[in-house]
Amino acid sequence: MFLSLRHLELGKIAFDQRFSAADLPFDEPGIEIPAGVHAVGEAELASVHTGEIRLHGQIEATGKAVCDRCVEPIEIPLSGPFRVSYEPRENEASAEEVELSEKDVEVGYYEGDGLELADVVREQVLLALPMQKLCRPDCQGICPTCGINRNEASCQCTVQQVDERWAALKSLKQ
Ligand SMILES: [Zn+2]
Ligand SMILES: [Zn+2]
Repeated sequence: MFLSLRHLELGKIAFDQRFSAADLPFDEPGIEIPAGVHAVGEAELASVHTGEIRLHGQIEATGKAVCDRCVEPIEIPLSGPFRVSYEPRENEASAEEVELSEKDVEVGYYEGDGLELADVVREQVLLALPMQKLCRPDCQGICPTCGINRNEASCQCTVQQVDERWAALKSLKQ
């Protein structure tokens, strides 16, 4: 869906769009959004003078990945509200001013006579991605020695390693 300046000049544009994973290609390794993204919201031309386009709404999506520590499949909720502002690329020089006056609103840039909604949605999805993908904050991961999932079972590997170190220390002392 293309949000053209010409249409925005006539009034707000409401959107309620579903994007498939293929509509929103992003090279974030290890995470997929097989069910796509649903975006609902509204776009408006905030100022005819500056060409600033504001959007607000909600994205709904679920990412599929594997836990960084234990490699079990996990679902990552990527849903949430968004509020963004886009200015014409040629305004970029005065970007600092804008950021100071509107700290609560993210500012992006568009080129030409409008904005592709898919680009906005993709950016919101990227922002929603977590730094770490974990099945739970205290995931114990996989034992590097025997490969057991430490969330599900315990092994003796760590204990043995500690024992060996103690044994080495003891032998040094003697
Ligand atoms: Zn895990
Ligand atoms: Zn082990």
